[in-house]
Amino acid sequence: MASKIVKSEHGLLQVPDQPIIPFIIGDGIGPDIWHASVRVFDHAVEKTYAGRRKIEWKEVLAGEKAFNETGEWLPEKTLQVLKEYLVGIKGPLTTPIGGGIRSLNVALRKELDLFVCQRPTKWYEGVPSPVKHPEDVNMVIFRENTEDIYAGIEFAAGTADAQKIQNFLRDELHVDYNFSSETGVGIKLVSEKGSKRLIRAAIEHALEHNLPSVTLVHKGNIMKFTEGAFKNWGYELAETEFADKTYTWGQWERTKAEKGDLAANAEQQHALDSGKILIKDVIADNFLQQILLNPKDYSVIATLNLNGDYISDSLAAIVGGIGIAPGANINYDTGHAVFEATHGTAPRFANTDTMNPSSVILSGVMMLVYMGWQEAADAIVKALGETIKAKTVTVDFYNLMKDATLVKTSEFADHIIEKL
Ligand code: NAD
Repeated sequence: MASKIVKSEHGLLQVPDQPIIPFIIGDGIGPDIWHASVRVFDHAVEKTYAGRRKIEWKEVLAGEKAFNETGEWLPEKTLQVLKEYLVGIKGPLTTPIGGGIRSLNVALRKELDLFVCQRPTKWYEGVPSPVKHPEDVNMVIFRENTEDIYAGIEFAAGTADAQKIQNFLRDELHVDYNFSSETGVGIKLVSEKGSKRLIRAAIEHALEHNLPSVTLVHKGNIMKFTEGAFKNWGYELAETEFADKTYTWGQWERTKAEKGDLAANAEQQHALDSGKILIKDVIADNFLQQILLNPKDYSVIATLNLNGDYISDSLAAIVGGIGIAPGANINYDTGHAVFEATHGTAPRFANTDTMNPSSVILSGVMMLVYMGWQEAADAIVKALGETIKAKTVTVDFYNLMKDATLVKTSEFADHIIEKL
């Protein structure tokens, strides 16, 4: 009998053999890529577990489909189901134009407090890339999902509220700045709790998957009490909660100051040889150079909301673009997780059966890994990799590849299923 995924008293996810998983089909190209992807998931699970396991899909409404059927963009019932069933997956959603909800994705993240936006970026052999060695990129981004300048606290230039804030800064806090009525104001919020829970998830991911390092990417040289604090809280967390499993650049600095850099290097080498992971940091602008120049030096990335947005898209472009970029929004404390393609609804291509379903397929792979169904996830990754390597691809890759065979969205799924 199909049943819910729950979180046990000890904080572990308990996944039944027949879990009920809610899905949002998505707008625009959503239905095309979802129908292709779900066949791949079902086939991989059935084959891998010889029929012992099976997902029971439960459709919930959001976006245009919800609006047409219920008059609401994000019905309360959808939120309730996602809350109750813990793990869900979604296609891209149209952002409603006009008042009310700013973005359905933001609303979902807020409601479920999905504080990690996780995006793996890995290259699959044969995928067209603008760089010479895309195989050197293999990173997992942990982007903070609830704070930063993204909190949406903004006041437009020329409004009474923007003026009030500027008056307060000038008169009460004695801020020395050339304020004017033509200045808009946005507020950047970064908390210790918000930073630490994100960095904790990144370190735990690195430990669980045997990865060599976690890099804190920040702009703390300029924004000391927000981005700089993020870095400091990260080092503090590693040195307290993960002292026996990590070595930090903060420790290296202290040893260097006390005993010189040879001693600090030897200490770091010893720590890494004994299996500890390295916690380091890089300034965000330098990091955008590093992912092009020395990508092999980076593995797990922990960063704030805005930096994470830029970095994710840049890395996605290096390994093949948004047609193959999966993502997940997760609250590791409650267990809530919503897996999603990172691209939009591409409305011009709706119902053409031409777009690449890889981003939804790989989001499903992340979901299977999250559920502990690693074998089915591995089988899909292998079959998808072989399909691309055989140059059987959708139009986005076809246009950039030599001697490729063009297939439709549904046919691409057929090829993967055949290889499974
Ligand atoms: P988009 O990502 O929908 O499309 C941009 C271009 O990327 C497309 O024209 C297409 O050429 C390409 N593309 C996108 N998905 C592809 C795929 N699977 N395979 C191959 N090529 C693909 O961006 P947009 O046009 O700026 O946004 C359209 C709508 O989507 C807007 O309403 C926007 O708000 C929404 N949106 C939703 C999400 C989400 O739900 N996660 C994310 C971004 C944008």
